[in-house]
Order: sequence, then C-alpha cells, then structure tokens
Amino acid sequence: MTRIRLLQFNAALGPLDYRVPEGMQVGPGDAVIAPLGPRQIIGIVWEADRLPAADVPEAKLRPLLAKLPVPPLQPQLRRLIEWTADYYCAPLAAVARMVLASGGALRGPATTTEYRLSGQEPPRLTPQRRLALDALQGEQATMRELATLAGVSEAVLRGLANAGALEPVQVDIDRPYPPADPDHHQPDLSELQREAADTMVAAVQAHAFAPFLLDGVTGSGKTETYFEAVAAALRAQRQVLVLLPEIALTEAFLTRFGQRFGTQPVLWHSSLKSTERRRAWRAISEGTAQVVVGARSALFLPYAALGLIVVDEAHEVSFKQDDGVRYNARDVAVMRARFEQIPVILASATPALESLQMAESGTYRRLVLPSRFGGATMPTIKIVNLTEEKPGAGRWLAQPIVQGITERLQRGEQSLLFLNRRGYAPLTLCRNCGYRFKCPNCSAWLVEHRLSRRLACHHCGHETPPPRTCPECGEPDCMVACGPGVERIADEVAELFPDARTALVTSDTLNTPDKAATFIAQAETGAVDVIVGTQLITKGFHFPDLTLVGVVDADLGLEGGDLRAAERTYQQVAQVAGRAGRGTKPGEVLIQTRHPDAPVIAALAAGDRDAFYAAETEARRDAGAPPFGRWAAIIVSSEDEAEAREAANRLGATRPDLPNVEVLGPAPAPLSLLRGRFRYRLLLNARRTAQVQAVIREWLGEHRHPQGVRVSVDIDPYSF
Ligand code: ADP
Ligand code: ZN
Repeated sequence: MTRIRLLQFNAALGPLDYRVPEGMQVGPGDAVIAPLGPRQIIGIVWEADRLPAADVPEAKLRPLLAKLPVPPLQPQLRRLIEWTADYYCAPLAAVARMVLASGGALRGPATTTEYRLSGQEPPRLTPQRRLALDALQGEQATMRELATLAGVSEAVLRGLANAGALEPVQVDIDRPYPPADPDHHQPDLSELQREAADTMVAAVQAHAFAPFLLDGVTGSGKTETYFEAVAAALRAQRQVLVLLPEIALTEAFLTRFGQRFGTQPVLWHSSLKSTERRRAWRAISEGTAQVVVGARSALFLPYAALGLIVVDEAHEVSFKQDDGVRYNARDVAVMRARFEQIPVILASATPALESLQMAESGTYRRLVLPSRFGGATMPTIKIVNLTEEKPGAGRWLAQPIVQGITERLQRGEQSLLFLNRRGYAPLTLCRNCGYRFKCPNCSAWLVEHRLSRRLACHHCGHETPPPRTCPECGEPDCMVACGPGVERIADEVAELFPDARTALVTSDTLNTPDKAATFIAQAETGAVDVIVGTQLITKGFHFPDLTLVGVVDADLGLEGGDLRAAERTYQQVAQVAGRAGRGTKPGEVLIQTRHPDAPVIAALAAGDRDAFYAAETEARRDAGAPPFGRWAAIIVSSEDEAEAREAANRLGATRPDLPNVEVLGPAPAPLSLLRGRFRYRLLLNARRTAQVQAVIREWLGEHRHPQGVRVSVDIDPYSF
C-alpha cells in the first residue's frame, strides 16, 4: 500500500495522510481530490519527510478520490511555499491556499460561455433593464460578472438573454496569447544603459541565480534598460515575471511594453475576470504565457519555465501586505529567483535601505544609472517654510506654489500638486458641540469624501452618507472640515484658477484601467493644466510638459511613530519630484514644510541622496532596526477587549528570556480597534544573528487561546 501526505488549505487541520488507490499514480506536487469527513478537498501531494502529520494507522487511511489533470507543482515552488511559511511564521496551509487561490484554474472545461449585448432592444424595457443595457456597452463576461458590473441581479440579465438582447459567446479558455517579439522595436541605449543591460542579459543567458539592484534616478530609463533582459529571456524561450506595485501603473507600463515588444503581456491581478484568470493560469503553467505582468500574487504562480523576475519600483511599501499571509513580495521574489536559479532585478530610484545594504555587502549586484536619459536635467528643489510663508485662512497653498502655477499656466506648462491624503478632509467636527465623526469599527476618524458624498473609514471600508444632524447634539448641517485632503486642494486650485483644467488623481477617481488610460492620454497631450493627486501620481508617469511639482505637506508622513517614516517621506517626495522636467523643459519642485531642518527635508532640498541614506543608516543602527537588527510584531486580537488584553498578557508572561531578543509590551496596538477587533501588540526586537522565527514559533506554540482570539505575526512590520 502506498501512503502519501497531503498539504491542504485549512490551517486548523494541518497536513493529512491518505492511501493511494490501486491504479492511481501520484507523486510530490500532484494536485488531488481527497475525502474529508463527508466533504471533498483539494490538496497537493508533498514529500512526507518535510511535513509533520498526525500518525494515523495504515488501516484507517482513506483512499484518494482522483488526481487532477494539471501539471504537478514543481519542487522549486514547493520549496518557496515552505520558505514563505517558515520566514513569515505563517501556517503552510495559508501559504498553499494563496498559491492555489488562483484556484478555479485547477478544474473546469476548456470552453466557457460569456455574454455580450446583441444590439437588439428587448421588447419590454424596465428601469433595471435600461440600467443593465447602459452599463454593459462594450463588455463581455460571464453572467455573474456582468451582473456585478451593471449592479443588477442575474435574473435581470437572464431575462435580457431570453429576450435576445444579450447573446452568448463561446470562449476557448486555451486560445493562445499573441507572441511577444524581442526585436519589434529596439531603442538605442545610452552607453551606461547598454552596459547595465549587457550585464543583465548575460545573467539571463547564464540561467543562474543573480540578484540585481537597478539603481537609477527618475527618468534614467530603467524600464528601457531592463526590457533588454526581458528580450533576452524571450529569445531563450524562458518566461518573465514583472511585478508592479500598483494596478494603476499597469496602463502606462502596457503602452511601453507594446511599443517595445509589439504585443501585450499577460496580466495577473485580483480583479481579473474568472475566464481571464483561468486562461492566464493555464498558459502560465504550460509555458505559453511569455511575459506576465502582475500584482504580488503573481509570484506564486506555477511558471513552467521562468527565466527572469523584475520587481519594478522595488522600494514600494505596497509590496508588503496581508493576503492572508503577511509577506514582502520584494523579498519573496528574490527567494523565488533563488529556488528557480534565475536572475532577479529590483529596479528603483529610491531603494530601501535594506536593498542598498545588500548591494554594499556584495549580495546584490548594483547597476547605476546616475543621470536622466536624453539630456533631461534633474529638477531644482526649493523649500517653502510654512512657518514663514503662511497660506491664508482655510487655504493650504502658500504664495510660492500659487505663483509657480500662475507662471506655468501662462507658459502652457503643467503643474502637479501632491498630497498623500484621499478625500476632502481627514477629520470632521460638529460646529456646535465639537463631536468628532469616528468609525464604529475602528479607532480612526471618518474621512469626508465630498465628491461621492459620504464619510468613509480608510481602514475597514465603513461608509455612511453625511448625516443631516449631529449624532451627539442634534445640530443641523453641523459638519466642519478640519485639515486638507486632495479633494480640498483641488477645490482650492479651482477657486484660485477658475479657468485651469484640473485633474484629480486618487484611487477613488482612477479606479479602472479605462479611467487611468483616459487620464494618461489627457495629461500627455497637455489637455490638463493642474494635476492634484495622492501617492498614485508619484511614480511611473512621464508627462513631458510637467515642469512644476508642489508637495503640499512634506511633514505628513513624519508624524506618528513609524520606523520607516523618514525613508518613506524621502521616497515619496523624491519620486514625485521625479515627475518634473522629464522632457526638454527644466523642472522645479517646491516642498511645503514646517520642519525645514529635519534631516530628510534638508537632504531632499540639497538633492543629496547619500546624505539621507547616511543619516538613516545611523538612525537605524541606533534603533537596532533593519538591516542592523530585526523587528517582529505579534498582534493579539479579539472582539472582546478584555479577552484580547488577557490573552496578550498571558503571552507577555512567557516571553522568551534571551540575551539577543528583547520583547516590548503588550500595549494597545496603534490601531487599537480595527474592523471591530480590539488589538494588543507585543514587539520583538532582536539582534541580526537571532533566530527570530524559531524563537517566535516556540514561544507561540506553547499557548492555546480562547476561540475568539487571533494571534498574528508580522515579521519586519512596516508600520508601528
Ligand atoms: P525611469 O523608469 O528610470 O524613471 P523611464 O524608463 O521611464 O525612466 O525613461 C524615461 C523616459 O526616457 C521615457 O520616456 C523613456 O521612453 C525614455 N527613454 C529612456 N531610455 C531611452 C532610450 N534608450 N531610447 C529612447 N528613449 C528612452
Ligand atoms: Zn473602520
């Protein structure tokens, strides 16, 4: 009898053993269906000696039911799953679930039915039907997806299909993607670009692990340069993964990719339609998808022949997130490259200190592009000291910025104002009693969004229409806005410059690829005079006529006890500054601040990147922070405040007593209430040499908590 061990996706159960029935052939990596109680589960056959499981006697083992007709999960991907679980102190099952969340891809027929408008009017036109017909112009998707898109029920759409207004289309899931042509349009690289490109190309041809830090100033042509490595992989018949930190950047990337390779890459992100997802998954696992451009989840796809990984804007904090497992995609990308034995390129104009450190120690190879392409110069940077240049009451733009925009308007050039705060105002008060509108589920203020007429919590998504009266004192029309968000800045611009054409760019306004494409087209052709935006606007865009960048509040990110506050401020301001003067006209950057002497602001003003990194290095060394020491946060949460506190105290009482590990807390976490759960935090600060993960696993492993308590680990947390 053959006994096998299965990794399945329920973290509470752990790995399970089964018997392989007569006539079935399975090996490590195969996806199978197995019985579990009265249900069926999907699991991956794993090397038994790598996973501990309950010791079930042979006679009790149940047989596997079927083997799924998909290629086995390769050993290098299995090792990546193990590494990720181990490093981030997450259950293996949770990582495996993330890997196969692409899911549906595993099963299903080779064709699917989608629907689109037939052009025929239905005989009876209800308001719901009208709504659907308007919303579905040009769309084609499954019934369910169309229903979501149109905001009507599936029944309405089925009615439309029966009336002949919607027609079915058979879609072949396995239809091939058009091939990318490495020679479609080869640009003339500058000498330094050529040198960097050649080094990366050689690494692609060598098929060996080779991490690169492509460290080039904004506008130096990092994309054009790493495209040469992509071309080399294409010529070698190997697949390429390009990770982008933000879906909003995809549009601009796709245009450039098209110009270089004559076709579109395969996209992978969470809002793909189910048929697109299955098509992509299958093509990726069969090797016919050549270049995949995706969000961080694309890291765990089963590429048949991966030859290169690129992480663009590798410093971006959005690469570190919680998808059920809290991992940093930049670091997992390097590990995947290592298991695959291929090169990985981290591209950035403002690398994380950790990445620079790796380059300095020789672990990463650093390729430098020190100047802008085509003779464009770096912008000049000036500080606007807000303690001297005070904007008027209820205004946020000081005279130098107003003056700067006025001049740009006269010259027909563009200005960009950056404020990293969505909505109209971060805090709203009652004018009568001073009541502050706050989220019922979180310890956070509700943010007024005037454009969409609502108050919203940016942590849990709670939304309410603005109340007519104060919930506390009953005063009518009581809301007073405190502080600026981007919407308020856009209002100020509209008041100051009523004739200027203004575009507001935030994740609220640029929430679909179509809207992103429209905006980019307008900005590129000069149909926009003033752009007002959040961090969404800080990177990736290339608008030749943009010559003024105004940073509305450079101090914003420095408030709060965030360990990476200085680095993040530096990166954001440097990136947004990098949008100015990318064409033939020189750019100017005005930074509004109340702390012109803060080291990060001074370094920005002097354009002295090295000075910033040197100061930051010292600060991190003093704090025992990465890359010199290690931090980990342990969050204990429950819907019951006392239960959370007690569980955290019990953990605190058994803290490890080690010379190289210090545990702080428990204390209420910075967001002490989040999505209705009370949160307490223990912070672990360790020497670089400590085995943090092992210490945490052993420590937490001793504890059993009440049902309602959740304990999660955040290795190298980004916000404190
Ligand atoms: P980065 O990503 O470093 O900010 P980009 O790759 O966006 O820089 O390049 C900036 C601009 O210069 C883009 O418009 C790009 O097309 C152009 N560019 C860079 N290198 C070349 C080249 N070798 N030939 C032609 N255009 C280039
Ligand atoms: Zn909330």
